Parts: sequence; C-alpha cells; structure tokens
Amino acid sequence: MESVACPYCEKQNHTSNPRIMAACAYCGNRFAEANTGYLELVIIDRGLENAAGVVDDLMAKWRQAGELDRKAIVDRRVELSDYAGPERRLSPALVTPL
Ligand SMILES: [Zn+2]
Repeated sequence: MESVACPYCEKQNHTSNPRIMAACAYCGNRFAEANTGYLELVIIDRGLENAAGVVDDLMAKWRQAGELDRKAIVDRRVELSDYAGPERRLSPALVTPL
C-alpha cells in the first residue's frame, strides 16, 4: 500500500496503485498520481466542474512552496472522452502541455 495526499483536501489516502483514478476517501473527488522519473504528476478528474482551475491552483501552490518537480494535469484518457472514437482528434486539448 502507498500513501498519497489528496490534491483537493490534502488528506492522506492509502492505495495499492496510485496510478488508477480513484475517489478520495474523505472528499470523494477523483484523482491519480504517476511518477515519470523526474516529475510527480497529479492527475485531476476531468469530470470536475472546474478541473482547469484546480490544476492552476495546485501549480501555483507548488510553485510557491518550491515543489518544482510536481505537476498537475487534467485526465485525458480516451475512454472518458465524449469524443471517443475516430473523431477524438477533433477534441480540443484539455491538458496543460508538459
Ligand atoms: Zn480529498
């Protein structure tokens, strides 16, 4: 089991696989984490009403704290997209460029 901090309420959640998008045990909002080797990515649920705003707030908070190896992105997995299928390439990019 790994311990990960919820990006919304900051409470610690225990998970066997932080890469899987799962709901926080405390606030119920969904998130995932992934480590690229040099960046710790926090993946925000794109179904959230203000997902892009949440990403901006997290990035600003981490910048201020000097946590420059952390990055928040909006989940863009195809199976959650309204554009799943051949037309998905027409979907506007919802993520912050890496
Ligand atoms: Zn939470």
